[in-house]
Amino acid sequence: MKFSKLAGVFEKLEKVSSGNKMRGILAGFFKKVPGKEIAIAAYFTTGRIASQYEDIVINLAEKMVIKSIAEASGRPEKDVNEVYKDKGDIGLVAEKFCSNGGNLSLKDVFKSLRKIAEMSGKGSQGGKITALADLLKKASGIEARYVARLVLGTLRLGVGDMTVLDALSIAFTGSKEAKKDLEHAYNICPDIGEMAEIIAGRGVKGIKKINVRLGRPVRMMLAQRVKKIKAIKEKIPGKIDVEEKYDGERMQIHVDGKKIRIFSRRMDDITSQFPDVVEQVRKNIKSKKCVIEGECVAVDKKGNMLPFQKLMQRRRKYDVEEYVRKIPVCLYLFDLLYLKGESYIRKGLPDRHKALKSIVKDTRHLKFVKRIITEEIDELEDFFNKSVSRGGEGIIAKDYSEDSIYRAGTRGWLWIKWKQEYQKMADTFDLVVVGAYAGRGKRAGTYGALLCAVYNREKDEFDTFCKLGSGFTDKQLEELPKKLKKFKIKKKHARVNIKKSMKPDVYFTPSVVVEVLGAEITRSPSHSAGEDLALRFPRFRNYRPDKSPEQATTVKEVTQMFKKK
Ligand code: AMP
Repeated sequence: MKFSKLAGVFEKLEKVSSGNKMRGILAGFFKKVPGKEIAIAAYFTTGRIASQYEDIVINLAEKMVIKSIAEASGRPEKDVNEVYKDKGDIGLVAEKFCSNGGNLSLKDVFKSLRKIAEMSGKGSQGGKITALADLLKKASGIEARYVARLVLGTLRLGVGDMTVLDALSIAFTGSKEAKKDLEHAYNICPDIGEMAEIIAGRGVKGIKKINVRLGRPVRMMLAQRVKKIKAIKEKIPGKIDVEEKYDGERMQIHVDGKKIRIFSRRMDDITSQFPDVVEQVRKNIKSKKCVIEGECVAVDKKGNMLPFQKLMQRRRKYDVEEYVRKIPVCLYLFDLLYLKGESYIRKGLPDRHKALKSIVKDTRHLKFVKRIITEEIDELEDFFNKSVSRGGEGIIAKDYSEDSIYRAGTRGWLWIKWKQEYQKMADTFDLVVVGAYAGRGKRAGTYGALLCAVYNREKDEFDTFCKLGSGFTDKQLEELPKKLKKFKIKKKHARVNIKKSMKPDVYFTPSVVVEVLGAEITRSPSHSAGEDLALRFPRFRNYRPDKSPEQATTVKEVTQMFKKK
């Protein structure tokens, strides 16, 4: 298929402002893409050149792309730079300078971009620049526009994987009916390209056969929350597995012989950041083929747990070894999804725990989660208090019956979290930044407040929930514009719902997730979440780089919380 066809679709998508229209356009297009190329089309549409978990990135900075454009067009770099300064969009610059070619195919572009991504090591930058220049030479204006944006990761059509799933369902079954099957399978196979290929090739039948595979992450199971601790007993009437809730980063670890890979909650491959965890798993997990899950927490020399922010310093490309020494970690394992050729996600928690226990050798830096099994709420509360005094965040109560399966990608009642904050009549929310208001007075030059949204899972959209202006340190405030610059867009994003009265000065593509502490949920005509729900007295707590926008708090959750008030 010609790349110009896809470029034409991208151009159309940029102009629409309704999510439904977006789905329609995409569905019409997917129907026409040959089966062998549909994976590529799906990746490109979501702004990537591989599935998210594959860690295949192009790694070319703005300056390098400018050099490529200069090389391709034979114009001085200075000229290209000037236009870039003026337009501020690499796509438009590439379009202006490179328009002599045409006739690129989807496969050509894919192969070239993958080749550029594969070049690594000393001297690879020069090779990358030339390879991109060669590709741009063959592009027409509109092709160059989207190639350049793909390379820099600034495509930002705002088409998420869920929107692509909707479009695939419409394209290959004629309606949104297969969406449930697709979503369920996507939780186990979060690779939008592979999903597209399967539905296009084998239909819903093929989709239903998808199972856990070593090396491909499973979307993580999540916990619900309750307003009163006693409600846990109503939700889990039988045996409860009460586990400490650690304030760290969730890890899903795939052991396939010598190959050990760690995936984050966003399904990024974070293996290279945690060589110490890899070593612990290699030495102390007695299975060569398994998928295990746990929470990684920063600890001090004595083994005391440290806050999440400390662990975030381990998220780095450079000086990894130095930080392994500076900030040691402990991995608390609490689940098992696969063992020796067998998927465990449809087995009950007791079976999963038994299997996990049988392969974990406890050490200072790798342990089976601290937990009790009880039916008594008093014992649960006791355990909660102890856990908090040890530096834990609270507890996660898990249904300990045979039916307590691993519900991939789902926030359900089989797991319920209870945190320390809940007792203080406050609650934390993970919200997505979709806009900002210019600061005045002391805050001139930065933002005075951020417009934050919850995720509407049914519509795959974002609905605003609060205006967030407090809780930031001076430094955080000052850095806001820089931090958010990458995500700035000219008009409201098609998947964001904002009421007129809340119109911000700046809009963002939904990307950045912030943890916000709030006192109460009320009704407010200004916000679009649920039945006009809003968060009162929000306070910024943290950035949550480990969460994707689709993993933010949902409309459904806040509606439930509001009703239980
Ligand atoms: P939250 O991020 O507030 O929705 O809480 C859910 C998160 O708690 C999970 O994604 C894990 O990262 C973390 N967590 C900490 N301890 C546990 C545990 N014992 N079981 C499950 N999740 C845990």
